[in-house]
Amino acid sequence: MTGAAKVELILATLDALYPAPPIPLRHDDPYTLLVAVVLSAQCTDLRVNQVTPALFARAGTPAQMAALPVETIQALIRPCGLAPQKARAIRGLSQLLLDRHQGQVPRTLAELEALPGVGHKTAQVVVAQAFGEPAFPVDTHIHRLAWRWGLSAGKNVLQTERDLKRLFPPDRWNRLHLQFIYFGREHCPARGHDPHRCPLCSQVGRKELFTT
Ligand code: SF4
Repeated sequence: MTGAAKVELILATLDALYPAPPIPLRHDDPYTLLVAVVLSAQCTDLRVNQVTPALFARAGTPAQMAALPVETIQALIRPCGLAPQKARAIRGLSQLLLDRHQGQVPRTLAELEALPGVGHKTAQVVVAQAFGEPAFPVDTHIHRLAWRWGLSAGKNVLQTERDLKRLFPPDRWNRLHLQFIYFGREHCPARGHDPHRCPLCSQVGRKELFTT
């Protein structure tokens, strides 16, 4: 199977399975999305979605969040894990949004990555999902899928991101990012699965798909 045919097969299969994949983290605006993505580090989206309603009821804007003591934020987000670091980051980034950006979430990766607790992947999720800019955030799950499907031999998420951006057109990146996530969760676990039941590999055979 040629690389182009494989890309077409993956696009068609993911579009058939997930024609309009929803953004998994509940949010009301770019600021609440940013906070939710920070909370999602090493935590499930489900858990984040359980925690954010109470957090945002208390503080749904940078000004309200920056006015809370770190200990209060920490208590509200404790179920997400890494609460001390995340609480400091959320309060710190809220203060910086007020100081540098008139309380608005900036739209560039460089400005976002300058905020505490905001790495490259988080910044890409925010530009893609809050502002509709083309981005392809790669986490360990997408990294695994790209490797399994022979799309990238990247040794880290940055190399995989570069390869995926080269293979797929920019106007598909945002949707593909979500489609990869949903497919990985539903069909392509890290361990233990039946390849014959897989909606992708069962079409062409596993070896065929895996060969670059
Ligand atoms: S068989 Fe399907 S589920 Fe398994 S690695 Fe391939 S794509 Fe993923």
